[in-house]
Amino acid sequence: MRTLSELVFHNTYSELPKAFGCLVTPQPLDNPFLVSVNPHVCELLELDPRQANTPCFINVFTGNSAFSGFSPLAMKYTGHQFGQYNPDLGDGRGLLMGEVLTSTGKKWDIHLKGSGMTPYSRQGDGRAVLRSSIREYLACAAMQGLGIKTTHALAILGSTTPVYREKVERGATLIRVAESHLRFGHFEYLFYTGQHAELKLLADYLIKQHFDDLYVQQELLIHGKTDEHETEVAHKKIYAAMFQRIVDLTATMIANWQAAGFAHGVMNTDNMSVLGLTFDYGPYAFLDNYDPGFICNHSDYSGRYAFNQQPSIALWNLSALGYALSPLVEKDAIEQSLQGYQVQLQQQYSVTMRRKLGLIEKREEDTVLFSSLFDLLKSQAVDYTLFFRILSDIPLHELSTSTDRFGDLFDCPRSLNIWLTAYATRLGFEIKPFTTVQKQDDEQRLLRMKKHNPKFILRNYLAQQAIDKAQDGDFLMIEQLLQVLGTPFDEHPEFNEFAAKPPYWSKELAISCSS
Ligand code: AMP
Ligand code: MG
Ligand code: MG
Repeated sequence: MRTLSELVFHNTYSELPKAFGCLVTPQPLDNPFLVSVNPHVCELLELDPRQANTPCFINVFTGNSAFSGFSPLAMKYTGHQFGQYNPDLGDGRGLLMGEVLTSTGKKWDIHLKGSGMTPYSRQGDGRAVLRSSIREYLACAAMQGLGIKTTHALAILGSTTPVYREKVERGATLIRVAESHLRFGHFEYLFYTGQHAELKLLADYLIKQHFDDLYVQQELLIHGKTDEHETEVAHKKIYAAMFQRIVDLTATMIANWQAAGFAHGVMNTDNMSVLGLTFDYGPYAFLDNYDPGFICNHSDYSGRYAFNQQPSIALWNLSALGYALSPLVEKDAIEQSLQGYQVQLQQQYSVTMRRKLGLIEKREEDTVLFSSLFDLLKSQAVDYTLFFRILSDIPLHELSTSTDRFGDLFDCPRSLNIWLTAYATRLGFEIKPFTTVQKQDDEQRLLRMKKHNPKFILRNYLAQQAIDKAQDGDFLMIEQLLQVLGTPFDEHPEFNEFAAKPPYWSKELAISCSS
């Protein structure tokens, strides 16, 4: 475990041409202090977590002192926001500070969010408030705990600097750590501004930095070729494979969101990672009761980013990316990749859902089992997470008499009983009724299910309680949530209250884009 100054930096992005961004110095926050540090993220960087509470660390990450390893840079990107192209985007309040190289050769971007104005701030103040920083910090921990690819949040630093939102709040910074901060919007920017040589450069950069196998192929294909046409064809093939990779990563990410009940809320193309990382946590929410049309963002009047729209919106976003890559990739190849998206997503989704239900084999009739379950959960507004967790505790031979175990989750236990009976029959195809073997197999099934059905998710009301306490200077609940969300499949009996059905008032919480 290293100190901040012992980290090794390799800032490749800042070596790219000027078009990619501009160097900006972070602006200081007043009276900075550490709010929380996530030791799991420190581990990724091989950074000693105690570093986070040193004056050096606090001052560097609140803009109060410079640090030699960093070359802070605001990245330029554009993107489609709610379906409309916006040419004026970019890091308006964040800076890519530098890239850390670990002892195993893994590279991590360190990004500072809330570090002050940049040339891309537009009307914004360049700041982030404590409230939204806590929301992003906890969400990153929750997604990591669930095993869903995400950017990470290393730490939150607070300050006394006033920041004006609906009311006066306090400025904070969030240290974001990610394999890459490249978004669909980076490619859109270079395409729409006609910088096609730079577009190619960015594609080469992405391949070299993140798609090792494609990089090797690229080297092999191009090596020794003298014919210009042949070289171009070879390049196009690699860029097509790069796009295919982005499609695959996105499909997997969306399948995981849908299975976990995660609603992102602002799936603009500038918030889409080319590595399929869950990126930019604004008005996101995890579903409480199962409601496919759920809209978590109160500013999303048309429901463009409703929970059940996420798969098709991701495809829309991928099409926008495909269009931006048209100078590099043949139209047919783009279309072919896009056509495969739905199948890929569905496949990944059904793998995950089968795991949630403890099913090993794939059977035709499972589609009906799934859809009847979703109809049931929807019609009775059943808590999505609690349902699966309770189900993970019920042995096969008890299923058809187990409606009581679900407490008051269902208004009509009779329809639950019908589904449970069908489920028990389906399980019976895999868990053969030879008493002792069956018992063992069934115990294994329940153990497996518990590893795919979390006990703890980051419910909006929990995040809100942690925020309210933090606004009063009490950061304990942030630590407690970090602990349970980091290992959400474990029991943590001391924190049972965090796994309970959400209180009625939680429905009144309105989350907007304000951050
Ligand atoms: P988001 O809705 O978080 O995806 O942000 C959209 C755009 O607005 C990005 O270019 C951000 O950098 C920028 N932005 C968001 N909040 C601020 C702020 N407080 N100050 C400056 N720019 C901001
Ligand atoms: Mg954004
Ligand atoms: Mg944002």
